[in-house]
Amino acid sequence: MRFCSSCLYPESKPDLWFDANGVCSACLGYAGRGAVDWDKRRAEFLRVTDRYRAKDGGNYDCIVPVSGGKDSTYQVIRLLQHGLKPLCVTAMTDSLSEIGRRNLENIARLGVDHVSVTINPVVRRRINRLALTEIGDISWPEHVAIFTIPVRLAVQMRVPLLVWGENSQNEYGGPAASQEHSTLDRRWLEEFGGLLGLRVSDLIGLENIKRSDLVQFTYPTDAELKAAGVTGIFLGYFFPWDGYQNALIAQGYGFETQGRLVEGSLANYENLDNYQTGIHDYFKYLKFGFGRATDIANNHIRRGRLTRPDAVELVRRHDGKFPWTYLGRPIAEILGEIDMTVEEFVAVCDRFTNKRLFKTDNRGKPIRDRHGDLVPLFELR
Ligand SMILES: [Zn+2]
Repeated sequence: MRFCSSCLYPESKPDLWFDANGVCSACLGYAGRGAVDWDKRRAEFLRVTDRYRAKDGGNYDCIVPVSGGKDSTYQVIRLLQHGLKPLCVTAMTDSLSEIGRRNLENIARLGVDHVSVTINPVVRRRINRLALTEIGDISWPEHVAIFTIPVRLAVQMRVPLLVWGENSQNEYGGPAASQEHSTLDRRWLEEFGGLLGLRVSDLIGLENIKRSDLVQFTYPTDAELKAAGVTGIFLGYFFPWDGYQNALIAQGYGFETQGRLVEGSLANYENLDNYQTGIHDYFKYLKFGFGRATDIANNHIRRGRLTRPDAVELVRRHDGKFPWTYLGRPIAEILGEIDMTVEEFVAVCDRFTNKRLFKTDNRGKPIRDRHGDLVPLFELR
């Protein structure tokens, strides 16, 4: 398998491409930022937000979707610094952790109004399970809800401006056209929102799920969006975006990190709010041969904080380990919430394991070592 000559992304990563020098589109996208005039971008941000600012103080100036993570904490700080009055909206995560709850409370204490929408957990667990077994992504309902819930509220509350965080297509590589996008619209969501071809309407009738169970997962219609004038911007387009920087700033404003590295990651400051995230990241590894540790290492390489050889060592140590625990919670407990045993889970893992990337026995079943880890057929170098 071929890897980027600059970072550690493999060619198996969806939507990634390489230039003639073997440098990946994520690195090229990042390099392009050097030419950005950030003062100009900031002025542009002020122009955009001034246009949407509530004239008489009778409403919010914008809606900012917040998970409670370091990035959303940073977003709220930036908006407050610019004199905006945001309404913070949380689409509650699939399985909120204790530290995640404290970090959400911390955001409200920055001095903002905060709405949190929790979807019926009975239905949600069924969808988690379906999404895991059908498309290999336990976090599918979360990825839908974090887009639909804030947009629905924007329509209902007549607050047209949504301020998202980073354009993930830029930092993590994607089609060139999408990297230039400064706005998030329905088309972006459908193309890059990670829905993996499963539509919300596909769920109706499965596991007793009714249309009325899916209200919060439903994106407003084009007519509704137009009537309310809803538009979305990425803050990462207007201000330099770096997860590590965001974590430093957020911590200065009360954001809590974990005492040790998050399992499967190289950071202690992100993905702290959902016990199911370890499973989500592990499936990325099963499908494409890289996990969250690679993402984090690459962010550091591009910013000169890690050399490529050191990053290779760290990723070898941390990426793709079987998720026995996440945020300290044993996998049996995490799976218990979606009514699945560890044995059933391993069978689902095997089904989604990329047989071209990992060793299998003569019946095509993925081989695991005594730690439960897969044996890669590729070597990260
Ligand atoms: Zn790269």
